[in-house]
Amino acid sequence: MPLVVAYIAIGSNKGDRLGQMRAALDLLESGGVVKVLHLSPLYQNRAVGMGEAEDFFNGVAQVETSLEPEALLDRCLEVETQLGRERSEAGWAPRTIDLDLLLYGGETLNCERLTLPHPRIAERDFVAIPLCDVAPSVNVSGIPIQEIVDSLKSIELNKLKETLR
Ligand code: ATP
Ligand code: CA
Ligand code: CA
Repeated sequence: MPLVVAYIAIGSNKGDRLGQMRAALDLLESGGVVKVLHLSPLYQNRAVGMGEAEDFFNGVAQVETSLEPEALLDRCLEVETQLGRERSEAGWAPRTIDLDLLLYGGETLNCERLTLPHPRIAERDFVAIPLCDVAPSVNVSGIPIQEIVDSLKSIELNKLKETLR
């Protein structure tokens, strides 16, 4: 398998948020088939629609992998489970860790378990901004990420001085 560059959004709003995000990166790399190339800065973001929940920490990792897209998704879901993610709650609930596959090379995919590019990049400042930090010249469905960032109306992110690693 050739190596492909992919982008993974990492979020947490429950527990030791930064510790869990760092652990997620270590776990992703632990199998030897995912290598983290670059990390965005770390952002703090209001947990919209989650009532009293803690703020989200968000970031994006650029990785290199020999895994196929669905195998990379499985790896992400596995790491979430290892870090105590519970999926039983209905709808949006605070989560110890959330790993979303944003882009996988230039691939588009629309199957039951996986949509690529991730369909909500353009409506989320907390995803588009760190993606642009780590890959300023990437396109999302043909649109330059910088254009997507410029089109986002209200940006409520706080860049933190701590880093993902
Ligand atoms: P959102 O996708 O809007 O950010 P979420 O992260 O809260 O929502 P989850 O409950 O974490 O949603 O995931 C639900 C399912 O979404 C996963 O089990 C997975 O099969 C599916 N999914 C589809 N496309 C993707 C993708 N690009 N990255 C991650 N999961 C995806
Ligand atoms: Ca998500
Ligand atoms: Ca998710």
